[in-house]
Amino acid sequence: MPGTKDESGSTRRPTTTDAGIPAPSDEHSLTVGPNGPILLQDHYLLQKMAQFNRERVPERVVHAKGGGAFGVFECFEDVSQYTRAAVFQKGVTTDVLIRFSTVAGELGSADTVRDPRGFAIKFYTDEGNYDLVGNNTPIFFIRDPSKFSDFIHSQKRRADTHLRDNNMQWDFWTLSPESAHQVTFLMTDRGTPRTWRHMNGFGSHTFLWVNAAGDKFWVKYHFKTDQGIENLTDAEAKVLAAEDPDYHLRDLYAAIERGEMPSWTLEMQVMGFEDAADYRFNPFDLTKVWPHSDYPAVKIGRLTLNRNPEDYFSQIEQAAFEPSSMVPGIGPSPDKMLLGRMFSYPDTHRHRIGTNYLQLPVNRPKSPVNSYNKDGAMRYENPGDPVYAPNSVGGPAADPARYGDPAGWTVAGEIVRAAYDLHKEDDDFGQAGSLYRKVLSETDREHLVANIVGHASNGVTAPMLARVIDYWSHVDPDLGTGVHEGLKTA
Ligand code: NDP
Repeated sequence: MPGTKDESGSTRRPTTTDAGIPAPSDEHSLTVGPNGPILLQDHYLLQKMAQFNRERVPERVVHAKGGGAFGVFECFEDVSQYTRAAVFQKGVTTDVLIRFSTVAGELGSADTVRDPRGFAIKFYTDEGNYDLVGNNTPIFFIRDPSKFSDFIHSQKRRADTHLRDNNMQWDFWTLSPESAHQVTFLMTDRGTPRTWRHMNGFGSHTFLWVNAAGDKFWVKYHFKTDQGIENLTDAEAKVLAAEDPDYHLRDLYAAIERGEMPSWTLEMQVMGFEDAADYRFNPFDLTKVWPHSDYPAVKIGRLTLNRNPEDYFSQIEQAAFEPSSMVPGIGPSPDKMLLGRMFSYPDTHRHRIGTNYLQLPVNRPKSPVNSYNKDGAMRYENPGDPVYAPNSVGGPAADPARYGDPAGWTVAGEIVRAAYDLHKEDDDFGQAGSLYRKVLSETDREHLVANIVGHASNGVTAPMLARVIDYWSHVDPDLGTGVHEGLKTA
């Protein structure tokens, strides 16, 4: 198709409609005379306006603001004794996509606010896509998915003023003491990471790994930043939120463009299958870690980001991660939050970007798809005949001997609505206290108190403050005293 010449004399491609028809003008709509009304037959103009009106898909209800990049994961350790997963065989290199995000803010919100950060990974493995949809914290605020929408509502906006409200955040947290470990983490300076490159990522949940012989293990994933941990102080984070709301997005993109490829070393904690029953903590409770003294972490691979997206919308905004995408050799654990998320994530993708979201290039597996699912809105292609299984005409057939579900765990009992059975050392505050007493430095502890006081002195009412002080006293009496004293002078 011939084109016009630009000032340098090179030929420019002609603008077209979305049907590929050369466009008549980039400047003017079709009118009756230069001053006349616009004609309905100006299909090019109508298409531009109509498409513009439909540019947005619903933003994610949580993790709306984010960014990401492509890269590779290389497994450098032999862990075939624990899993048969193709992606975790020694020497295997797998393409990946990561999306980082904040949790509570909307699409245009600031990157540096105090919030957990999403750390969602898609591994394009030889046996289908494996999605590990984690955070920069090894734990979470709640342990039952029935509280998830309530928790998120408390972090977002009020119904009347449409404002965020620290009072309702503390109301939910103090009435949900299982939140204490994660809120402690959040109120340290790790709640405001300097960049996405300078934070760790965690699978957070416990997962099942199964080896080729069918032996089962419980595992936890830790992606440790090779750039080193760096955080912002509360004051630095607030300045950056005002000056450059896209600070983290800009940082990641610029680093990769400069050739500084960020990487993370994957360390695994592995628990014998039988050990779970009488471990001192419930190993499936998402508000708990497995202390390293019990289960040391083993380095098994490295994840490196090396390519920026070329098109943010199609490659990052439409990227769909779902904890339900597990490949052979990996399975769920009885973590109720994980089981809830396995429904919730694919459900939100169908609503947000459409029933055929897995056919979009960024979500499409690099391995063959031989599914009998078909049709639906925006279907790109169908597998063709036969359209049913079982069939006698050569269509794909499942191979349960090779790919059957891993034998899971054994369950017996009444159908109930109840908390997990307690293990010997289970409580809501113990591990938060260990973080405060054993892990944080003196400076970290001072910042923790200041960060809590700064947050709780902003619009939190007097009766609630009594509960806030009580909550922190349960984490550690000194911490409770520090918060109490700080609130008196705030
Ligand atoms: P360890 O001393 O063996 O491990 C402490 C962990 O905390 C390390 O993974 C460390 O790794 C991380 N850490 C260090 N500084 C901070 C900080 N300022 N904020 C948050 N994490 C930090 O102790 P345990 O395994 O017995 O765990 C003690 C407490 O440490 C836990 O209750 C939990 O709160 C926290 N923690 C534990 C993790 C685990 O999986 N066991 C993971 C992360 C935190 P790094 O600096 O590389 O992140």
